[in-house]
Amino acid sequence: MDEFELIRRLTRHLPSRPEVVVGPGDDCAVLRLSEPGQDLLFKTDAVVEGVHFRRSDRAEQVGHKALARVLSDVAAMAGQPLAALVTLGLPEDFDPTYVDGLYAGLNALAQRFNVAVVGGETTRVPGRIILSISLLGTVARDRAVRRVGSKPGDALFVTGELGGSLEGHHLEFEPRLHEARWLADHFQIHAMIDLSDGLAGDLRHLLAPDGLGAELLASAIPISVPARRRAQASTAARPALVAALADGEDFELLFTVASNQAVPLLDAWKKQFHPLRLTCIGKITSEPGVSLRDKTGVRPLHAHGYSHFAEPERN
Ligand SMILES: [Mg+2]
Repeated sequence: MDEFELIRRLTRHLPSRPEVVVGPGDDCAVLRLSEPGQDLLFKTDAVVEGVHFRRSDRAEQVGHKALARVLSDVAAMAGQPLAALVTLGLPEDFDPTYVDGLYAGLNALAQRFNVAVVGGETTRVPGRIILSISLLGTVARDRAVRRVGSKPGDALFVTGELGGSLEGHHLEFEPRLHEARWLADHFQIHAMIDLSDGLAGDLRHLLAPDGLGAELLASAIPISVPARRRAQASTAARPALVAALADGEDFELLFTVASNQAVPLLDAWKKQFHPLRLTCIGKITSEPGVSLRDKTGVRPLHAHGYSHFAEPERN
């Protein structure tokens, strides 16, 4: 299949929005922002075969994951996604049906969160598939929730459950866009990040800009069913708590609020998002470093979040 035919095929049914003045097919897409008083968010991210997915994974899920990752970053700033550009690198021997599947997964998620897919690029990459997505989003002026801004004594919250992403969750997670915007609309969120590399690692990204630390309560960490199941299996290499702290690709939200907001927040969340969990897992401390409190006392927690550079390929 030549490039023209491929592009024709891929641009047939792309989701659009009223802001799109010129979509795919010209030298650039043209967008017209409808509301004044907004800041733009701009983000790019890639999934690479052998690192973030395998060829044996369902193409629809891989397309879903590629877009969901950037949507999760827009969620982490309490923003609203607007439009995406897709760069697709394909090996010589690519299967057009697989590429259709990638776009089907991507387009379905784009439609669900009202994201216009306004163009992109296809290129040859020897040996593997690469899918990179750039995303524009909007947020009310000066209202983007940043990683910086936590205060000593703040309560530390996480959405959903953690660990076990390799059991399949990393291909089908839901970006927490609605939840993040609701949080920012109803509470003063001091700082927020989405968990891509694991709680133990990403927590440090939340603390470092302010020179703060955190104390986690081991019994409070919400451990996912897959992480528990894997730990119970006879071949398990490590306990479920370690999986919840260190597994990457949870794509849940980690954020801080003033401690007197903790109870009202939990009450309001339950009414809004039940059965999705929200858990207070600890507090922010003025001394830097992360510690873990359990029955035996308090001990330092080292960063061992998942790193795409440190771990073997997922094949
Ligand atoms: Mg992020």
